[in-house]
Amino acid sequence: MKEKELINEFFIPFHDRNYSKDVHKGIGDDAAVVSVGDKLLAVSVDTMTEGIHFYPGIDPEDLGYRSVAAAISDMAAMSATPKYVTLSLSIQSIDNKWMEKFIKGVKACIVQCDCYLVGGDTVKGALSIGVQVIGICESQPIYRSGAKENDLVAVTGFLGGAKTALPFLGRCDELSPDIKYVLQRYHRPSPRIDLAKKLNKYMNSAIDISDGLVSDIEHIAIQSRKKIVLIKESVPIDPKILALVTKETAAENALAGGDDYEVAFTFSREYLDKVNKIGIAANIPITVIGTVEKGLGVNVMSESGEVFDHNASQGFDHFII
Ligand code: ADP
Ligand code: MG
Repeated sequence: MKEKELINEFFIPFHDRNYSKDVHKGIGDDAAVVSVGDKLLAVSVDTMTEGIHFYPGIDPEDLGYRSVAAAISDMAAMSATPKYVTLSLSIQSIDNKWMEKFIKGVKACIVQCDCYLVGGDTVKGALSIGVQVIGICESQPIYRSGAKENDLVAVTGFLGGAKTALPFLGRCDELSPDIKYVLQRYHRPSPRIDLAKKLNKYMNSAIDISDGLVSDIEHIAIQSRKKIVLIKESVPIDPKILALVTKETAAENALAGGDDYEVAFTFSREYLDKVNKIGIAANIPITVIGTVEKGLGVNVMSESGEVFDHNASQGFDHFII
């Protein structure tokens, strides 16, 4: 069973009654959205486990940073402002030097994102980090289910960097600037919080790219009950990875790689100029990569109309690898 199927079978139908009316978005999006008093809060949790989400021997400072950044990225997908973080750490034994570095990384990301670590839990066990984030929705939260027919599909930043880093993880020899760059993309994601908040009023749907572009866009398509057509040549392959892998591998890493923590979103094409200007002002590329149409699911096509089998680009799934 795939991770998506597991969630669909056991968690989406978890409630055999309606949510109370203060639950604006329950299971199924990047974060839940609940109202408390007159405030809307976004809440999510992400877990990283040694050997699955990171490699044994990872620099603990990178591990701390990456665990928090990946969790905070779900707030960007909702256009929420991350605020409060709790962290659960399962670890086999305490090594002071390791802990100091881990905390340094956690702190760097918490400070960078203007959040507070307000609690957590520490247990003995296999190395694993769970990060819960609570954010404030200052504007309308954006859901996976909001894509409209004729919307344009866009993505922030460049894709494929984190996947391209995998063969170089843990290497301590002299590294070229390109290798250092992809390692940075893997270890130090930049949650697109500010950019997403600026784009908020133009977005109809959004998701963060954690598992892979095609796989994550499929969530928007299915939940919005639309077909999304992606144009392969439009996908913004990270230019720096072209020095490290072939063009084909680079394209595949950008389509299916995951771990880039960029935001994919759809918006009405009348706002194209405004969306472009926001990207230029933020100095972060925003690239139109496809369209929303009638139908269901994702099609990956070339500019010339050739259709690709996107099952080959399904991205990361914990229960398949
Ligand atoms: P993301 O990749 O954005 O973190 P996931 O694909 O992990 O999202 O999860 C999809 C949805 O399923 C989310 O709304 C998440 O809260 C929900 N979900 C996943 N696992 C569980 C679980 N064990 N219990 C309840 N909800 C879950
Ligand atoms: Mg997400």
